[in-house]
Amino acid sequence: MKVNATKLPRLALQEQLQSISTHCHQCQRCVTECQFLQNHGDPKRLADNYTPIDGYYLQLPFKCSLCGLCTAVCPKQLDMATMFLEMRRETVSRGAGNLRQHKGLQGYEKKGTSQRFSWYALPEGCDTVFFPGCGLPGTRPEQTMKTFARLQRSMPKVGIVLDCCTKPSHDLGKEKYFHAMFGEMKQFLLKHGIKTILVACPNCDKVFRDYGPEFETSSIYELLAASDLPKAADISETVNVHDPCVARFSSSVQDAVRSLVEKIGLNLVETEHSRDTTLCCGEGGAVGAVAPELAAGWTKKRTEEATASRTVTYCSGCAGFIGKQGPTNHILDLIFSPEAALKDKAKVSKAPLTYLNRLKIKKAIKNAVATAVSRERTFSATEETVAAGPLPRE
Ligand code: SF4
Ligand code: SF4
Repeated sequence: MKVNATKLPRLALQEQLQSISTHCHQCQRCVTECQFLQNHGDPKRLADNYTPIDGYYLQLPFKCSLCGLCTAVCPKQLDMATMFLEMRRETVSRGAGNLRQHKGLQGYEKKGTSQRFSWYALPEGCDTVFFPGCGLPGTRPEQTMKTFARLQRSMPKVGIVLDCCTKPSHDLGKEKYFHAMFGEMKQFLLKHGIKTILVACPNCDKVFRDYGPEFETSSIYELLAASDLPKAADISETVNVHDPCVARFSSSVQDAVRSLVEKIGLNLVETEHSRDTTLCCGEGGAVGAVAPELAAGWTKKRTEEATASRTVTYCSGCAGFIGKQGPTNHILDLIFSPEAALKDKAKVSKAPLTYLNRLKIKKAIKNAVATAVSRERTFSATEETVAAGPLPRE
């Protein structure tokens, strides 16, 4: 492998490059599936030629959606998304990250973690919290509150945390910032006895499973699938399920959503790419900010592959992206208002109303949930706290 000995990348990236260079036999299966690789070369070629002082390679990884389809089709299950994530981290560590094109996404995340938008409501004796994330409360406040109410019926001491898991920073390669922010949240929850996190967003799901092993993380779709649902009258539509790429290897969540679709009374037909080979909706890795044609290409491929006139998904981001192309429902739309959802009349908000919705939810929870412990989040990682290394302790 050709690596300039005087200008070596960080060790974590060196290991990724070495692994791909050694094990990839350039069969091109991943390239056939991915326009980004078709444009820039197969994984071994990219690993062998990677040069961290070359501006081309510093910007390249931000065009990878980090979707993992390449791993799913690779005969050796090589992990290219981690290689490209490490390249993003390399770019950030060399001071070439924080692209102006990502400012909007970073601002969105910053609001989620802010004192104004965050709220932790932990009732007396609470060891389980619902973590709805940012997208769902913004686009679907009613569905979020109905989900929480349903959880409260079976778990009277369940709490709720309105905050951002900071996956945007994670995926943009801001490793230290991500660990500082997620670490502070994790320590607060552990300190107050939280053992179980119930997630609605597949991105939060992945963050908690990967970086919060101290918790038991469960998807609300698994819980809902195990409960009774009233079957809506006169439903006979056929739908596709779109699995978010971040959930491509989460077979139990995929099964749960399919079970919910059938319980609601819908007929399910699969697309060519589903479950572990699902396609990115176009939002993955914030690629749209730097290479909109690649992001649009994923959305187009997803749309063209549809075998039903309606798509059901379980990520509000995917629902937004795919919904621009045709009838699309979040599974919670169908659970709580199936007739309206199938007439495309489910209540779904768009920005800037999404921010107002999140503030309204916070107010409603503050008024309705009696707490033993509560907080608005005031911690914010700065250059100084990130550089200091150890995570802050309460
Ligand atoms: S993670 Fe997705 S976008 Fe990136 S190389 Fe693999 S298939 Fe292509
Ligand atoms: S599918 Fe695997 S072995 Fe084949 S080119 Fe891609 S990374 Fe290499």
